[in-house]
Amino acid sequence: MINYKDLGLVNTKEMFAKAIKGGYAIPAFNFNNMEQLQAIVQAAVETKSPVIIQVSKGARAYANQTLLRYMAEGAVAYAKELGAKNPEIVLHLDHGDSFETCKSCIDMGFSSVMIDGSHLPYDENVALTKKVVEYAHQFDVTVEGELGILAGVEDDVVAETHTYTRPEEVVDFVTKTGCDSLAISIGTSHGANKFTPEQCTKDAQGHLVPPPLKFDVLAAVEKELPGFPIVLHGASSVPQEEVAKINKYGGALKDAIGIPEEQLRKAAASAVCKINIDSDSRLAMTAAVREVFATNPGEFDPRKYLGPARENMKKVYKHKIENVLGSANKLVD
Ligand SMILES: [Zn+2]
Repeated sequence: MINYKDLGLVNTKEMFAKAIKGGYAIPAFNFNNMEQLQAIVQAAVETKSPVIIQVSKGARAYANQTLLRYMAEGAVAYAKELGAKNPEIVLHLDHGDSFETCKSCIDMGFSSVMIDGSHLPYDENVALTKKVVEYAHQFDVTVEGELGILAGVEDDVVAETHTYTRPEEVVDFVTKTGCDSLAISIGTSHGANKFTPEQCTKDAQGHLVPPPLKFDVLAAVEKELPGFPIVLHGASSVPQEEVAKINKYGGALKDAIGIPEEQLRKAAASAVCKINIDSDSRLAMTAAVREVFATNPGEFDPRKYLGPARENMKKVYKHKIENVLGSANKLVD
């Protein structure tokens, strides 16, 4: 049994309270490997931002859970070495699918877990979330629950269509479960193909404009739960320059469409205090690697393509922190 505090990590409690008050959101970036984690930590330190580093069940299977835990501990030490006096880093389980997965993460030093019972009947979601909360709170670990279902594909999480969160359920859910934050469904979705071209309209330049997020649902949730931390999943904006670069250098990404950043900015200014971004970093990494392979086919030193990939991901992370989420300069020196 390892407690996250011994690893220098923090839970989400104070971080979210400050974010709601300050009208910004904390970035939650997924990581699977060293370059991604380096890029996240460098971006957070250089912008003086708190950050949530999160791993999915798939990441645990891919990278090994023990190694991931040491990487998170290393992230704290690395942030300090880069000049952050008091780095605020949360190690979070993304889409925990069972009590056992959540418990195992808590026992390994995670400071926050998500239990995703959103696909279950309401009462079963309540019971499962409550069970995780009761265990987690013994160790001061914070818990994210979910109501409503996002469309899209994320690791093992697949859904065909959205089921928007029902605002009339949120007070009951939060009261019964005791969860610390709530992920809701208002039209964001997992993956790089969030909308089909048919679902979009066209602007004057002929660019596809996706349908707006359901801000009326968000407002109704906020009214029911004033000051309670709300989480948005599937909030990549799918930068078209990265998609174009991937396709230019031999890729075949079709109809990749994300959430416009103005909408995420608007959400971040409200009770939304955690925004999950994964696909944008995957796109940045892939675009940079493809460019090296296409322009320098003789290259076989992984540092020569993973290095540019790391730089490109860092650029994306800094842009999100500074221009979308508004979490820059929120660390106390
Ligand atoms: Zn998600």
